[in-house]
Amino acid sequence: MVQNLSKVVAQDQKFLNIINGRQVGALSQETITVLCPSDGLAFARIPASKAEDVDRAVSAARDAFDSGPWSRMSAAERGRLLTKLGQLIERHGDELAALESRDTGKPLRQGKADVAAAMRYYEFYGGAADKIHGDTIPFNDGYTALTLREPHGVVAGIIPWNYPLQILARVVGAALAMGNTLVVKPAEDASLSTIRIGELAIEAGFPEGVLNIITGYGREAGAALSAHTGIDYVTFTGSPATGTAIQQAAAFNNRGVTMELGGKSPQIVFADADIDKALPVIVNAIIQNGGQSCSAGSRVLIERSIYREVEGALAERFSKLVAGPHDADLDLGAVINPAQKRRIDSYVAGAVEAGIEIVARGSIAAAAPAAGYYVAPVLFGSVDPLAVIAQEEVFGPVLSLLAFDDESDAISIANNTEYGLVAGVWTRDGARQHRVAKRVRAGQVFVNAYGAGGGIELPFGGFKRSGHGREKGFEALYDMSATKTIVFRHD
Ligand code: NAD
Repeated sequence: MVQNLSKVVAQDQKFLNIINGRQVGALSQETITVLCPSDGLAFARIPASKAEDVDRAVSAARDAFDSGPWSRMSAAERGRLLTKLGQLIERHGDELAALESRDTGKPLRQGKADVAAAMRYYEFYGGAADKIHGDTIPFNDGYTALTLREPHGVVAGIIPWNYPLQILARVVGAALAMGNTLVVKPAEDASLSTIRIGELAIEAGFPEGVLNIITGYGREAGAALSAHTGIDYVTFTGSPATGTAIQQAAAFNNRGVTMELGGKSPQIVFADADIDKALPVIVNAIIQNGGQSCSAGSRVLIERSIYREVEGALAERFSKLVAGPHDADLDLGAVINPAQKRRIDSYVAGAVEAGIEIVARGSIAAAAPAAGYYVAPVLFGSVDPLAVIAQEEVFGPVLSLLAFDDESDAISIANNTEYGLVAGVWTRDGARQHRVAKRVRAGQVFVNAYGAGGGIELPFGGFKRSGHGREKGFEALYDMSATKTIVFRHD
């Protein structure tokens, strides 16, 4: 029986894991209290799952995979169920947007955009499920050789707190379209929409054990899941440190991984750029979701001849930005938790201590509750490319402006961090657009645009410390499957 949630989460609402199509608490009965970032107040509880709960979820996913209700279901039928889930998400859009923004502190507007994107993922992968196919390969006389794309088996999806609905959707969409079964562990700070999607999947008619959801702390449930010998593949989005731990566990068990680990993405603005077009996109790319986006455009490289002009225009925009409660729907919401606020504040303090100038600062709404986790956006000017603030992922609304002299200087600064996720190039010169787009080491490059992760159809993932493997688009379907070669001899 699917628990019927009220439209707005009641105070102290208790959410449950979903294992084998049933809603269950942690075996220990322990729970984690969920706080709203906008006011710091408790409003829900989720199970504090441990290794024994992970065992149950993995064994449900394994039974569902091995007994075949999903992997042997026709690809078209799997696609239909994913599409149906997308339709249910659309129908419950207001409820999901409200839940997501209350749970994460993001403005309601962003919660609605996340619902729309999530819906598109299920629609895209629902449609793609029966469009992935293998090859026939010219081989020796007397043989026919062909390939099939087969599911890995049981996939573990470990999800962060910044875009739970969207990141869940890209994992579930691609993994289930290819016939895998899943165990998902959302972040302890933002699990509610994931549980709600699990409930909607039951309503849509997904067979038992296909989509299992267990909540809990990363060091307990997350570590137990990533080390579980019953898992065949792991997909993870989050911090590089946790990604390394998960890859070590995966290496121990010799299994594949997809890693999406953040970035320090540059936007390169040449003197011939259409500045009026670039400015709002540049600002949005760092304040969207309070800067807590792996694809945040956190460094802006500006050609020296227009540096002062662009810095002045950005400063004007930054000084007008306001952070406030999620339901006030201002430019920014609260950040996810007190630790994240401390982390951002300490990066800002460190940069100031290093002598870097704050050229503009936004504000926090007077009506914002004092106990909420608010950070006013900060714009740093004339930042040295090697400064900590220009090298490390802050994961907050902090933008560094850097000057460059010419194209090769711009490319070398852009590439001179450990990361390589996304880049923006702003110029009217067509040849330069191509040259720079090819030479910047980033998984996605936008020219005269910045997609902040881009559309559902566009492959997404990093070079260097930003990770490996690709999500989104058709590429994710290849990551979520393995090629099998079959050879027939018929001479
Ligand atoms: P994290 O990487 O530790 O958490 C992400 C997910 O991993 C959560 O579900 C968490 O429970 C789980 N996890 C944590 N430790 C684990 C372990 N040992 N084994 C398996 N799973 C584990 O991120 P965080 O601590 O919440 O945030 C820290 C920093 O990470 C942020 O400040 C930010 O810089 C970065 N981050 C990046 C992204 C991104 O999209 N690239 C998302 C979230 C956080």
